Amino acid sequence: MNGIVFDIKRYAVHDGPGIRTTIFLKGCPLRCLWCHNPESFSPKIEEFNQTNRLAEKSVTTRVKIGKEYTTNQLVKEIEKDQLFFDQSQGGVTFSGGEPLLQLDFLEVMLKECKQMDIHTVVDTSGFAPKENLQRISENVDLFLFDLKQMNDKDHRQLTGVSNQQILDNLSYLIEQKTNLIIRFPMIPGFNDSKVNVMKMIEFLTNLTSQAEIHILPYHRIGKDKYARFNKENRMPEIPSMKEEDTVWAKELFEQAGFKVSIGG
Ligand code: SF4
Repeated sequence: MNGIVFDIKRYAVHDGPGIRTTIFLKGCPLRCLWCHNPESFSPKIEEFNQTNRLAEKSVTTRVKIGKEYTTNQLVKEIEKDQLFFDQSQGGVTFSGGEPLLQLDFLEVMLKECKQMDIHTVVDTSGFAPKENLQRISENVDLFLFDLKQMNDKDHRQLTGVSNQQILDNLSYLIEQKTNLIIRFPMIPGFNDSKVNVMKMIEFLTNLTSQAEIHILPYHRIGKDKYARFNKENRMPEIPSMKEEDTVWAKELFEQAGFKVSIGG
């Protein structure tokens, strides 16, 4: 079985516990305005010519985004880092894009990792049929689950999709007592209102008193990728957010009894 991967990041320390190898699976049904990985959007391998000026010359290179891996090939890549996993209680994180878009491949890879006794994380937008989450859950040690905007109309404008399925899936995982961390990418002017934070708190307190939340302040690191990968950047020019600008939201979540940290 083959999957399409657009990046493998080794020694990652923000994608779950310990030192991790993060596998970025290509394809995402969302189009978040602030996305740092626009090269993930298409589920297919992409190729195009890119022309750059070098001194007085124009140099054209062929750029390829994505690479096909068999499960065996990807297992071999993962095995190279086993020592780091063992020493740091780390493991493998499947991210994207939306990793659930390559469900069959993801399912096999998660099973392979569990057979090797490797800790597994799935970093998801939550936008997938519930049955797909159910299929993989038993082989996932931890979900990193994005929660972006509680107002459905605003969510559609920011990401291109409704939040209904995402909220349903989050409710389901919490009800199942699944191990998860909620990640709140906080984007100035888009979802950093007190109303949005209070609605998140209301939604979560109806489900649990023990959520763990990571607030991710907006930063512009993905900005240059849009030009590099021939993608339209619809995000207006706004400065990166300082950590201290998110403290008020952290305090509100904490007052509701949740465990909160700022950053990944
Ligand atoms: S869900 Fe993640 S990968 Fe997909 S568009 Fe949004 S930020 Fe990008």
